[in-house]
Amino acid sequence: MIAHAPGIDPAYTKGMSSSAPSIFSKIVSREIPADIVMENDRLIALRDIAPKAPVHLLVVPKTQQYANVAELAADDPQLLAELVAMAQELASEHANGEFRLVFNSGETAGQTVFHVHAHVLTGGLDEGSLAG
Ligand code: AMP
Repeated sequence: MIAHAPGIDPAYTKGMSSSAPSIFSKIVSREIPADIVMENDRLIALRDIAPKAPVHLLVVPKTQQYANVAELAADDPQLLAELVAMAQELASEHANGEFRLVFNSGETAGQTVFHVHAHVLTGGLDEGSLAG
């Protein structure tokens, strides 16, 4: 029995993003290099290639099945909680433990990679700045 037509991504039919590996999936699989600062079985953290703060890290679920934080929260709140805990750990390791957590959700909100990820900004932020 054919489960789905060849070339049709089953995730796509559920309204999720294409199965073409995202830039972050390629980092998870070591297909492309990155400055990885922390990793466990479900999450990876790396330095943003275009930092917007003295410390600008990304925390990314290894699965690319969630395009944004709302999808992640609805489907796997435990993983979202683990992501926040890793952000805290990173902020303690790389700065004074205080941090700003940003999830751009949607193109007009500045999201460019549709594989959910949190920006962890710390290490001396401009007061009042909301830039991600
Ligand atoms: P967003 O615009 O919220 O989707 O965030 C995507 C982020 O990924 C941006 O801040 C980029 O600078 C960052 N980024 C894109 N490619 C890479 C890469 N190869 N390594 C590290 N960070 C990246």
